Amino acid sequence: MTVDGRAWPGDDETKPAPPPLRRIQALVNTVERPDGADRLADPADARDWLVGNALLAPHARLDVADLELVVRVREAVRAMLVGNGGGPRPTPADLAPLRRVAEAAAVRATLESDGTVTLHARGDDVTTRLASLLLAIRDAQRDGTWALLKACGNDECRWAFYDASRNHGGMWCDMASCGNKLKNREFRARRRAGRTPS
Ligand SMILES: [Zn+2]
Repeated sequence: MTVDGRAWPGDDETKPAPPPLRRIQALVNTVERPDGADRLADPADARDWLVGNALLAPHARLDVADLELVVRVREAVRAMLVGNGGGPRPTPADLAPLRRVAEAAAVRATLESDGTVTLHARGDDVTTRLASLLLAIRDAQRDGTWALLKACGNDECRWAFYDASRNHGGMWCDMASCGNKLKNREFRARRRAGRTPS
């Protein structure tokens, strides 16, 4: 998919999450902060993206409040990923949109023929589809992959990336664009403060 004739960077992640978390990474990365394009800003573009990512059934209604909820959930998840990346933990206010989805969710358990129990959020509306993301978060929290989905340590960026580094100490969506920029900024700040950069 393209926006303004160019490929969207979120469609070709350099640090992609494994499939269950990929949808969450994709949602968080629907905007290029701090002042870039936002795929959820325009309702027509948002509809295509939401349907394409199974967050809206093709013929389901999408009103302004639905879209606002998606954007607020996106930012709630981003706040969680900032915490995963070693930044501030999300506040109750940060999490409120996601809590609203959790409380509205109708989750059903299914017993498969081999005895496996699976959970589903069934329904076509946006709130129910967002609840399916909560199930993916739950699974990832249990298998340990959730902590590796992080928001970039550059507070102007906060792009979601999956930290597949061996020591799980990754902090940047991309060292060239964010890691070095931050290091240079800190370097200059220390120099201004009259301290010898280390
Ligand atoms: Zn970044």
